[in-house]
Amino acid sequence: MVDPPLAVIAPSLPLHAAMAVPKKRTSKQRRNTRRAHDAVTPPTLIDCKRCHDVHRQHRVCPTCGTYAGREILEVVDPAEAVGGPLAP
Ligand SMILES: [Zn+2]
Repeated sequence: MVDPPLAVIAPSLPLHAAMAVPKKRTSKQRRNTRRAHDAVTPPTLIDCKRCHDVHRQHRVCPTCGTYAGREILEVVDPAEAVGGPLAP
């Protein structure tokens, strides 16, 4: 569907009123300076003290359910879980 021309929708508005239009082109330096903080860093992974599996720092280990040596979650095998993906 083609939008009707702005002159039809709002005849009193100037043509550039429909959207913001930059007055000047953004320079490469300004663009790159703005993007200087946009880099994505990979999450820090550490070895679990209990099961020695790799997991994210400051998170409960999803493999064994422990954090700082304490058991936080009860880890259930998905194949044996009630209502799990393999449940009848
Ligand atoms: Zn673990």
